[in-house]
Amino acid sequence: MSNIFDLVKRYPWLPSLKKYSYIDSKDDPYEYLLELFSKYPNGEIQERVFKFFRAAFENIEYLSGHKNDDLNIYLYLILRILLYILDNKPISNRIANLYSKITNNELLKEADATVYEICQDLNLKIKYYQPPINYGINISKDQKQILETNFRIHYADYLKLAANLRDEYRKLVNNALSEGYVFIQKRSLIRLIQEYVRRKFLNNEDDEGKSSNKFKKNLLKIQEFKEIYDNILSHWELKKEEFEYNFEISFKKGSNISKDFPPCIKDILLKAEEGQNLTHIERLFITFFLNALDYPEDEIINVFSTMPDFDKKKTEYQINFAKRKGYIPHSCATLKSLNLCMAVKYNDQICLEGYFSKKLDTKKTLAHPLFYIQLKQYRGSKKIKKLED
Ligand code: SF4
Repeated sequence: MSNIFDLVKRYPWLPSLKKYSYIDSKDDPYEYLLELFSKYPNGEIQERVFKFFRAAFENIEYLSGHKNDDLNIYLYLILRILLYILDNKPISNRIANLYSKITNNELLKEADATVYEICQDLNLKIKYYQPPINYGINISKDQKQILETNFRIHYADYLKLAANLRDEYRKLVNNALSEGYVFIQKRSLIRLIQEYVRRKFLNNEDDEGKSSNKFKKNLLKIQEFKEIYDNILSHWELKKEEFEYNFEISFKKGSNISKDFPPCIKDILLKAEEGQNLTHIERLFITFFLNALDYPEDEIINVFSTMPDFDKKKTEYQINFAKRKGYIPHSCATLKSLNLCMAVKYNDQICLEGYFSKKLDTKKTLAHPLFYIQLKQYRGSKKIKKLED
C-alpha cells in the first residue's frame, strides 16, 4: 500500500488532496498564491509552468524530467487557476491533453494494487482480484487465449468515464459484464482514469461561464503570477499565427534587422540611446525581444550600457535568466494595456491598420511585435523579387 500523501504528490487531482489543506474552498487564492511565490522565490514555479505550456503549445505528448515533489501539487493547482483565468478553450484542451497523457504514462508504471488504491480514492466502484480472475476465452486463428484481469468496474462508473471515448471496442456491449461489473484490463482502466483527469481541466468551462473579472484582476496584482499569465498569452499569440510569413528573423552578423523593428521597440531603443532610464517593464520587454531574435549577449548588454544605473554583471545575469526561462516578448494586446504600444506616435501603417492575411483571406490586426518583423521582411523580399524580375 502506498502512503496516501505520496500518492497525492504524484497525482494531485486525487480527491484526497483536500486532506492536506493545499487549498480549500475557504482559502483566498490571492493570499494562497502570494504565499506560494514567496515560498519559491527562485522562479522554480514559473519555470515549471512555462515548460508545461510550451510543451502543450507544441503538442508534445510527454515531458522529460517530470517530478513528483511538493511543487507537482502546486503546479496542478496553478494550472487550473490559470486555465480558469485564461478562459480559452483551445488552451484548456491542450493542457488537459498533455496533463492527462503524462498521468497515463505515470499510472502505467504503478503496481496493480496502487491503481486499485487510486480508484478507491476516486470513489469508483471497483473489484480488485489478486491473483487475477479468468473471464473468458479468446479464440483467434485456432489460438486460444485465456482472458484474465485483476479488475472489474461497475458499469455506471464505466459508462460515465468512457462517455467521450468513441472506440467501438470500448462500448459496453463489447465488454464482458457480470453482476453489473465490467471486466477490465489495467491499461483500459488507466485510460478511463486519464479521461477523468482530462475532464478535471475542462470543468472550469461548465462552472460559471466566463471567469470573473474581479477574481482575475485581483490575481494579476501578484507580479509573479502576472508574469506567467502575460508570457503564456504572448506565446499563444505567436503560436496561433504560425505562420504564413515564415521568415527567419534571427540576428545575423552584418545584416541590419533593426530597420524592421516595430515602433514599440524603436521607441525604447531610442530612449536607451539617449541615456534615459527605462522602466522595469521596458527593460524586460526589450530583453525578451532581443533574446527571441537570438541577439548576442554583448549586443543586448550594449543597449543597457547607457542607463544611469547600468551594472554589467546584473544585466548579464538578467539576460541569461530570461533566456534560460524562455520568456517570450509581450504581445501587442499586453503592450497596449501597458501603454507601450507606439503605433499612433509613429503613425505606423502596419500597426494601425493591420495586414491582409492570405491564409485566412481576411484583414487582420497585428498580434505580436515579432510578426511585424516577419511581415516587413516578407514585404522587403517581395520588393527585391519585383526589382529582379
Ligand atoms: S501594434 Fe504591436 S508592434 Fe506595433 S507598436 Fe503597437 S505593440 Fe508594437
